[in-house]
Amino acid sequence: MEEDSIECVTTSSPERLYEAEVNHPPNHHHNHHNQSSKSRRKVSSPLISSANSVVELLECPVCASSMFPPIHQCHNGHTLCSACKTRVHNRCPTCRQELGEIRCLALEKVAESLELPCRYSSLGCSEISPYYSKLKHEAVCNFRPFNCPYAGYECSVVGDIPFLVSHLRDDHKVDMHTGSSFNHRYVKSNPLEVDNATWMLTVFHCFGHYFCLHFEAFQLGMAPVYMAFLRFMGDETEARKFSYSLEVGGYGRKLTWEGTPRSIRDSHRKVRDSHDGLIIQRRLALFFSGGDRKELKLRITGRIWKEQNLESGAIHI
Ligand SMILES: [Zn+2]
Ligand SMILES: [Zn+2]
Ligand SMILES: [Zn+2]
Ligand SMILES: [Zn+2]
Repeated sequence: MEEDSIECVTTSSPERLYEAEVNHPPNHHHNHHNQSSKSRRKVSSPLISSANSVVELLECPVCASSMFPPIHQCHNGHTLCSACKTRVHNRCPTCRQELGEIRCLALEKVAESLELPCRYSSLGCSEISPYYSKLKHEAVCNFRPFNCPYAGYECSVVGDIPFLVSHLRDDHKVDMHTGSSFNHRYVKSNPLEVDNATWMLTVFHCFGHYFCLHFEAFQLGMAPVYMAFLRFMGDETEARKFSYSLEVGGYGRKLTWEGTPRSIRDSHRKVRDSHDGLIIQRRLALFFSGGDRKELKLRITGRIWKEQNLESGAIHI
């Protein structure tokens, strides 16, 4: 097998590594919550607007998510979802009256009669589902877009894989490489400034798919560490068909990691926090870097391969 080795000193400028935000807020990107009541006065065709207003009625006025049975209401008729009901300590959030145990059966029945298109219909999905199974479908819909896998800051761009590949190349200026084996050098002149903002992303194209190699520094408990891991640009079922290995070392010592790339459906932070990758303690990383240990010079080699025998992979020991 031919090994095409890629050599690149990815970060000569320190700004590039450290331009990310310093304090990551946890992932809060539920942008759809504010649209509930404002669009109610919209005038369109009577049929569509009545279906829309029923859908709006099925939005919990408290948390704005779709309500499913049991749908609750207070004595004054204010509805709320069962998740919110357990949170509000038996007080209606709208009128502050005692909530009691009243179910809104009429609304539950109306919901049952609704048939709605998948929210990704504009992306090609033709699925029409009953209200109660719509969310279930949308959670696994093959047309649901992927989030941008860029890790430096919360990028809100979503799309299919070809779109995201060009977005990474053009907008994030991410390095793109072709080939299933790599030899990647990470150089950093002031490695003591380790915080959550240090990250690198390189994209590899092989086997007709794209893979994201992440490299970042963060605090693991009290210890500053570096971590490298691979994510697959596609769904998890496809990701499982691949394996990868990473290796880093020097001066007679070496660390290796072998794993399955995670789908970019899992956020890079989730993968990082599950430690599903090659973790290098900073002391060891500086040892591998040689010299006076003031500069980080890590050479990470790796390989991606397709698992030949997936059937045997299903047997768990
Ligand atoms: Zn709610
Ligand atoms: Zn009320
Ligand atoms: Zn769908
Ligand atoms: Zn992006």
